[in-house]
Amino acid sequence: MIHFVGAGCGAADLITLRGKELIEKADVIIYAGSLVNPELLNYARSDCRIFNSAEMALDQVIEVMRNAEENGFDTVRLHTGDPSIYGAVREQFDRLDELGIDYDICPGVSSFCGAAAALHAEYTLPDVSQTVILTRMSGRTKVPEKESIPSLAAHRATMVLFLSAGMLEELSNQLIEGGYSPETPAAIVYKATWADEKVCRCTVGTLSETAEKNGITKTALITVGNFLGDNYSLSKLYDPSFTTEFRKAETE
Ligand code: SAH
Repeated sequence: MIHFVGAGCGAADLITLRGKELIEKADVIIYAGSLVNPELLNYARSDCRIFNSAEMALDQVIEVMRNAEENGFDTVRLHTGDPSIYGAVREQFDRLDELGIDYDICPGVSSFCGAAAALHAEYTLPDVSQTVILTRMSGRTKVPEKESIPSLAAHRATMVLFLSAGMLEELSNQLIEGGYSPETPAAIVYKATWADEKVCRCTVGTLSETAEKNGITKTALITVGNFLGDNYSLSKLYDPSFTTEFRKAETE
């Protein structure tokens, strides 16, 4: 059995209880060494075989899984954040399906959640934005044209950009081209929930210079939108004049 486990986005104690138990029981662990906190490997048994997928191609990863399976071992495939976001897991699932190897998936705390925590922010403020767009700049992996940054920026919803910290001048230009004003609040969150986390608040127009000043070129998320501003409406959920399934309004 292969367990795909979300490691969480940094701090080792952010893994789920289920994820930790799977690591503790594993015979084999394949972890994404580029971003998974190595402290998580301290939960593994001393005789656990550990592989760093940062140095492996897909075929090699599948080969380790297939071997483990033949020996009746339990394998944990440890991915950074949550496996469903830029995790390159689908190609592994499909190969395992072809080989008839069983797998399951344990979710993790994605870095976009870690970034909100670092910012003390709520992405979905009433009357500001009720939508979060998770995306990236087109790089060596292309983003389909229908999802260009200007076309997404036109919604002026909350945006969180992965894998884009090295392209901030271009990102600013494309966000502005799409309809955000240069003064729109933005923030760069570097290594959210790690010990060396950094939060840099800026605007859409000053993303690039802010990253440069703070020496940030990777392992960062860019968040954009008026959710970082001061104007919003209170929720209905806790409005005393609003009846919900669980609470009757004081006055209606
Ligand atoms: N599956 C991961 C994302 C993997 S893609 C998740 O759910 O978070 C790798 C990108 O995620 C990085 O380039 C960076 O943009 C972002 N990232 C991962 N961990 C991060 C962290 N702790 N702080 C800020 N950004 C992070």
